[in-house]
Amino acid sequence: MHLDLTPEDERFREEVRDWLVDNIPKGRAPTGRYDFREFDMNWQKTMYAGGWAGISWPKEYGGRGLSTIEQIIWYEEGAKAGAPDEGCAFVGLNHGGPTLIANASEAQKSFHLPKILKGESVWCQGFSEPGSGSDLASLSTRAEIDGDELVINGSKIWTSYAQVADYQELLVRTDPEARKHGGITWVICDMKAPGITIRAVPMANGNEGHLNQVFYDDVRLPITNVVGEINGGWKVAMSTLSFERGTAFTARQIRLAKMVDDLVDRAKTKTGPSGKATFANEEIGRRLSKLRAETVALRGMTFLAVAKNVRRDQPGPDGSMLKMMVSRLGKEAQQIARQLMGNDILIMGHETYEHFYSFANSVGGGTDEIQHNIVAERVLGLPKSY
Ligand SMILES: Cc1cc2nc3c(=O)[nH]c(=O)nc-3n(C[C@H](O)[C@H](O)[C@H](O)COP(=O)(O)OP(=O)(O)OC[C@H]3O[C@@H](n4cnc5c(N)ncnc54)[C@H](O)[C@@H]3O)c2cc1C
Repeated sequence: MHLDLTPEDERFREEVRDWLVDNIPKGRAPTGRYDFREFDMNWQKTMYAGGWAGISWPKEYGGRGLSTIEQIIWYEEGAKAGAPDEGCAFVGLNHGGPTLIANASEAQKSFHLPKILKGESVWCQGFSEPGSGSDLASLSTRAEIDGDELVINGSKIWTSYAQVADYQELLVRTDPEARKHGGITWVICDMKAPGITIRAVPMANGNEGHLNQVFYDDVRLPITNVVGEINGGWKVAMSTLSFERGTAFTARQIRLAKMVDDLVDRAKTKTGPSGKATFANEEIGRRLSKLRAETVALRGMTFLAVAKNVRRDQPGPDGSMLKMMVSRLGKEAQQIARQLMGNDILIMGHETYEHFYSFANSVGGGTDEIQHNIVAERVLGLPKSY
């Protein structure tokens, strides 16, 4: 494995840097329940027009067909230049699209993938239910087959961005008699279908535009929307989660590394009560140094995961280690930021939002405890715990 980038990679980096300077939108996405969609989609459209959407996606669906290394370079330069994150394009780009690439029919791929890349459709994820989170296979949202349609009844919760989404990765139970994991189907849900009701779930960080509960009352979806086999959805869902836990966190960990560098700069210039730079405060200095070392280690682990993923068609269970580490280091970075900011953190702004959100990262996409179990059993090969 080579850790040095090739001269072509470095040329690619220059190209990215130049393009970003001229094209990054000014300001942040508006907050609120709906307005951010236009901002996020405009940024996606700009990237597509510039040839920067879907860097590692296949060319036939509108991507660039390049390697994950180039995708990482793009994220690194984006973080350095302060490019917006994917916002509500996150699910489509990071696990909806990749799940379709790995599992969908040709018709599904050629309809949906270009729309995601062109910023024409937003996806959300309908996996968790009020009674099924960590134990996802216990889900009970029911789909009955009626001719060439599925009729859906039930409810999903914690559905990020449902209120602005066009499509959903929806898990339903098609065979209640089958073994727990056996009777589940992964289906593309049109979020404008009659019978869908969306209610906001307010968040402690003041963001009212993110989480929802979704209700399905006799929602009819064509059977052609099923991805993979009817009752074979567990395998497709595991593929979705491997992308969600494996590669979707790459951009986040790169933004985290940038944040740690910014914290080091801030600690060097900000003075504490003694008049010395905060970095000279032994405790902050020690914590920041450790955090910096760990983010560098995380980068190394990410490159290792990328190298392994080249040899398999989707990320393996070791992605859970990256997810856990990003969540833990993200929380530590926010704790240090809070110490440096003092009471300013109480002014509800972007930094306060990020501070609160750092806790959510240990839950969304599967909790840290569940990731520990996956690493113990499937990476280290330890016996199952009962
Ligand atoms: C910000 C955010 C965004 C989200 N977005 C989405 C989304 O878009 N779509 C979606 O479908 N879901 C989404 N979720 C839901 C998320 O996937 C679930 O919250 C998560 O899987 C945990 O499920 P739960 O909340 O039902 O908790 P539970 O499963 O009830 O867990 C409660 C506690 O018990 C622990 N626990 C449970 N089982 C075990 C075990 N076997 N071993 C050890 N500990 C265990 C858990 O770690 C946790 O601490 C989101 C969550 C958050 C916070």
